[in-house]
Amino acid sequence: MSELDGTVAVVTGGSRGIGRAIAQALAQAGAKVAVVGRSGESAQRAAAELPGEGHGGYACDVADPEQVNTTVGAIEAGQGPVGILVNNAGITRDNILLRMKDEEFDEVIAANLKGAFNFTRAVTRGMMKRRAGAILNITSVVGLTGNAGQANYAASKAGMVGLTKSVAKELASRGIRCNAIAPGFIETDMTDALNESQVEALLGQIPLGALGGPEDIAEAAVFLVSPRARYITGQVLAVDGGMVM
Ligand code: NAP
Repeated sequence: MSELDGTVAVVTGGSRGIGRAIAQALAQAGAKVAVVGRSGESAQRAAAELPGEGHGGYACDVADPEQVNTTVGAIEAGQGPVGILVNNAGITRDNILLRMKDEEFDEVIAANLKGAFNFTRAVTRGMMKRRAGAILNITSVVGLTGNAGQANYAASKAGMVGLTKSVAKELASRGIRCNAIAPGFIETDMTDALNESQVEALLGQIPLGALGGPEDIAEAAVFLVSPRARYITGQVLAVDGGMVM
């Protein structure tokens, strides 16, 4: 029998990068994965490429509570009750503080922080009834340290830390765990924009001396949502080559 044994696992932003690696690792561990992204086509393609059976892809903007409720309803009707939620969808709209537009601040908070809240609220009713569930929020080391030019993004990620701990405290007695991973610098589309000198500068801050890959986050993610982590809740695990310690 596989470790996750047919548990339905929702991965927001599962069509690319870190989310895609998490979806693949969960599928490998036996989960039935629901891949969520704004592009339904990309989400469905990513779901079709996962190992095993029973996966699905869904078009949904995590920032929109109505779309989220409808999507969770569709997942539960089509794949079964949700046992695992990975809030991974995220965006950046970097700018220095004085130039940052209201829309840049609001869009990032809406997708990264409100999106995680929307999905958490939508799945927890069922999890509470079943007295079982594991929620994982993908935050960032900049949510712990702050970062010049990312006031919006760092605030959204710090907010996810507060969300993680509050959900963990509120729902522990109902059999639901909630943890977070704070990735450091991981090679994906999101970090593609950095030039060589920016990458060099970053490498100087990473004790292990290398950038991370999406699979490094996926390893930790599967552990934290699996029964092996049954005594861990409310924690933020930095997976960052030692950047923040
Ligand atoms: P990515 O390659 O840009 O992928 C982002 C994913 O999120 C895509 O699947 C995208 O699909 C989805 N998405 C974005 N906005 C969405 C929305 N409003 N509703 C639904 N889906 C949405 O990003 P990544 O680098 O893998 O990052 C994944 C997570 O890790 C993010 O939360 C990010 O902040 C965090 N993180 C990344 C790094 C890093 O170094 N890469 C470091 C720390 C933290 P659609 O475009 O189809 O919507």
